Amino acid sequence: MTMEQTFIMIKPDGVQRGLIGEIIGRFEKKGFSLKGLKFVNVERAFAEKHYADLSSRPFFGLLVDYIISGPVVAMVWEGKNVVVTGRKLIGTTNPADSPPGTIRGDYGIHIRRNIIHGSDAVESATKEIALWFPEGPIAWESAIEPWIYE
Ligand code: UDP
Ligand code: MG
Repeated sequence: MTMEQTFIMIKPDGVQRGLIGEIIGRFEKKGFSLKGLKFVNVERAFAEKHYADLSSRPFFGLLVDYIISGPVVAMVWEGKNVVVTGRKLIGTTNPADSPPGTIRGDYGIHIRRNIIHGSDAVESATKEIALWFPEGPIAWESAIEPWIYE
Protein backbone atom coordinates (compact mmCIF):
# COMPACT_ATOMS: atom_id res chain seq x y z
CA MET A 1 0.00 0.00 0.00
CA THR A 2 1.33 3.43 -0.91
CA MET A 3 1.17 5.87 1.94
CA GLU A 4 0.83 9.53 1.09
CA GLN A 5 1.62 12.62 3.11
CA THR A 6 -0.07 16.00 3.11
CA PHE A 7 0.61 19.39 4.63
CA ILE A 8 -2.14 20.73 6.89
CA MET A 9 -2.07 24.13 8.61
CA ILE A 10 -4.50 25.46 11.20
CA LYS A 11 -4.67 29.13 10.26
CA PRO A 12 -4.58 32.00 12.80
CA ASP A 13 -8.39 32.13 13.10
CA GLY A 14 -8.53 28.39 13.84
CA VAL A 15 -5.94 28.87 16.59
CA GLN A 16 -7.65 31.96 18.07
CA ARG A 17 -11.02 30.24 18.07
CA GLY A 18 -9.78 27.27 20.04
CA LEU A 19 -10.17 24.72 17.25
CA ILE A 20 -6.71 23.10 17.40
CA GLY A 21 -7.87 20.07 19.39
CA GLU A 22 -11.05 19.65 17.35
CA ILE A 23 -9.18 19.72 14.04
CA ILE A 24 -6.38 17.41 15.13
CA GLY A 25 -9.06 15.11 16.56
CA ARG A 26 -10.84 14.85 13.21
CA PHE A 27 -7.67 13.78 11.39
CA GLU A 28 -6.74 11.38 14.20
CA LYS A 29 -10.17 9.82 14.43
CA LYS A 30 -10.32 9.34 10.66
CA GLY A 31 -7.26 7.11 11.04
CA PHE A 32 -4.54 9.35 9.65
CA SER A 33 -1.18 9.45 11.34
CA LEU A 34 0.58 12.62 12.56
CA LYS A 35 4.13 12.87 11.18
CA GLY A 36 5.01 16.48 11.93
CA LEU A 37 3.71 19.25 14.19
CA LYS A 38 4.86 22.77 14.99
CA PHE A 39 3.30 25.93 16.40
CA VAL A 40 4.83 28.91 14.66
CA ASN A 41 4.59 32.58 13.84
CA VAL A 42 5.14 32.97 10.13
CA GLU A 43 7.08 35.84 8.58
CA ARG A 44 5.68 37.71 5.59
CA ALA A 45 8.28 36.40 3.12
CA PHE A 46 7.63 32.83 4.23
CA ALA A 47 3.85 33.21 3.85
CA GLU A 48 4.39 34.72 0.39
CA LYS A 49 6.50 31.71 -0.53
CA HIS A 50 3.88 29.25 0.73
CA TYR A 51 1.19 31.00 -1.33
CA ALA A 52 3.47 31.91 -4.29
CA ASP A 53 1.07 30.27 -6.78
CA LEU A 54 -1.58 32.84 -5.81
CA SER A 55 0.68 35.92 -6.01
CA SER A 56 -1.17 37.38 -9.00
CA ARG A 57 -4.60 37.09 -7.36
CA PRO A 58 -6.26 40.29 -6.11
CA PHE A 59 -6.65 38.87 -2.58
CA PHE A 60 -2.98 37.87 -2.23
CA GLY A 61 -1.98 40.78 0.05
CA LEU A 62 -4.94 40.29 2.35
CA LEU A 63 -4.32 36.54 2.43
CA VAL A 64 -0.71 37.05 3.51
CA ASP A 65 -1.78 39.65 6.13
CA TYR A 66 -4.21 37.09 7.53
CA ILE A 67 -1.72 34.21 7.63
CA ILE A 68 0.85 36.29 9.53
CA SER A 69 -1.73 37.79 11.93
CA GLY A 70 -1.10 35.12 14.58
CA PRO A 71 0.51 31.75 15.16
CA VAL A 72 -0.42 28.76 13.02
CA VAL A 73 -0.21 25.01 13.61
CA ALA A 74 1.76 23.34 10.81
CA MET A 75 1.37 19.60 10.42
CA VAL A 76 2.22 16.62 8.27
CA TRP A 77 -0.44 13.90 8.14
CA GLU A 78 0.05 10.49 6.56
CA GLY A 79 -2.32 7.85 5.21
CA LYS A 80 -3.82 6.27 2.15
CA ASN A 81 -5.13 9.03 -0.16
CA VAL A 82 -4.61 11.58 2.61
CA VAL A 83 -4.28 14.49 0.16
CA VAL A 84 -7.72 14.07 -1.41
CA THR A 85 -9.43 12.77 1.73
CA GLY A 86 -7.87 15.55 3.80
CA ARG A 87 -9.39 18.09 1.40
CA LYS A 88 -12.76 16.36 1.88
CA LEU A 89 -12.49 16.67 5.67
CA ILE A 90 -11.62 20.35 5.18
CA GLY A 91 -14.36 21.20 2.65
CA THR A 92 -14.48 23.78 -0.12
CA THR A 93 -12.57 27.07 -0.16
CA ASN A 94 -15.63 29.19 0.61
CA PRO A 95 -17.13 28.04 3.93
CA ALA A 96 -20.52 29.24 2.66
CA ASP A 97 -20.45 26.45 0.03
CA SER A 98 -18.89 23.86 2.32
CA PRO A 99 -21.37 21.31 3.67
CA PRO A 100 -21.93 20.76 7.39
CA GLY A 101 -19.66 17.98 8.58
CA THR A 102 -16.64 19.53 6.92
CA ILE A 103 -14.28 21.67 9.00
CA ARG A 104 -14.92 24.83 6.96
CA GLY A 105 -18.65 24.07 6.73
CA ASP A 106 -18.92 23.64 10.48
CA TYR A 107 -16.75 26.55 11.62
CA GLY A 108 -16.30 29.17 8.90
CA ILE A 109 -18.32 31.94 7.28
CA HIS A 110 -15.91 34.22 5.39
CA ILE A 111 -14.04 33.01 2.29
CA ARG A 112 -10.64 34.09 3.64
CA ARG A 113 -11.06 33.12 7.29
CA ASN A 114 -11.62 29.48 6.51
CA ILE A 115 -9.76 27.98 9.48
CA ILE A 116 -7.44 25.53 7.77
CA HIS A 117 -5.16 24.86 4.82
CA GLY A 118 -4.59 21.52 3.11
CA SER A 119 -2.37 20.68 0.15
CA ASP A 120 -4.38 20.35 -3.08
CA ALA A 121 -2.26 17.65 -4.78
CA VAL A 122 0.52 15.18 -4.00
CA GLU A 123 3.00 17.42 -5.82
CA SER A 124 2.10 20.54 -3.82
CA ALA A 125 2.10 18.47 -0.62
CA THR A 126 5.70 17.45 -1.30
CA LYS A 127 6.68 21.08 -1.92
CA GLU A 128 4.85 22.39 1.15
CA ILE A 129 6.22 19.71 3.47
CA ALA A 130 9.76 20.53 2.27
CA LEU A 131 9.13 24.26 2.89
CA TRP A 132 7.61 23.90 6.37
CA PHE A 133 9.58 20.84 7.55
CA PRO A 134 13.05 21.12 5.99
CA GLU A 135 14.28 18.78 8.74
CA GLY A 136 11.82 16.18 7.44
CA PRO A 137 8.76 14.62 9.08
CA ILE A 138 8.97 12.30 12.07
CA ALA A 139 9.32 8.64 11.06
CA TRP A 140 7.23 6.39 13.29
CA GLU A 141 4.63 3.70 12.81
CA SER A 142 1.30 3.92 14.53
CA ALA A 143 0.44 0.76 16.46
CA ILE A 144 -3.20 1.00 15.38
CA GLU A 145 -2.43 0.82 11.64
CA PRO A 146 -3.40 -2.88 11.35
CA TRP A 147 -6.84 -1.88 12.67
CA ILE A 148 -7.25 0.79 10.00
CA TYR A 149 -5.91 -0.98 6.89
CA GLU A 150 -6.01 -4.54 5.56
N1 UDP B 1 -8.88 33.17 -0.36
C1 UDP B 1 -9.28 34.49 -0.27
N2 UDP B 1 -10.13 34.99 -1.23
C2 UDP B 1 -10.60 34.24 -2.26
C3 UDP B 1 -10.17 32.90 -2.37
C4 UDP B 1 -9.31 32.39 -1.41
O1 UDP B 1 -8.87 35.19 0.64
O2 UDP B 1 -11.37 34.75 -3.08
C5 UDP B 1 -7.95 32.63 0.65
C6 UDP B 1 -8.57 31.52 1.50
O3 UDP B 1 -8.07 31.66 2.84
C7 UDP B 1 -8.01 30.28 0.84
C8 UDP B 1 -6.61 30.75 0.44
O4 UDP B 1 -6.83 32.09 0.00
O5 UDP B 1 -7.99 29.16 1.72
C9 UDP B 1 -5.95 29.94 -0.67
O6 UDP B 1 -6.81 29.92 -1.79
P1 UDP B 1 -7.06 28.56 -2.60
O7 UDP B 1 -7.80 28.92 -3.83
O8 UDP B 1 -5.77 27.83 -2.74
O9 UDP B 1 -8.08 27.77 -1.64
P2 UDP B 1 -7.86 26.45 -0.74
O10 UDP B 1 -6.91 25.55 -1.49
O11 UDP B 1 -7.31 26.89 0.59
O12 UDP B 1 -9.23 25.86 -0.61
MG1 MG C 1 -5.05 25.98 -2.28
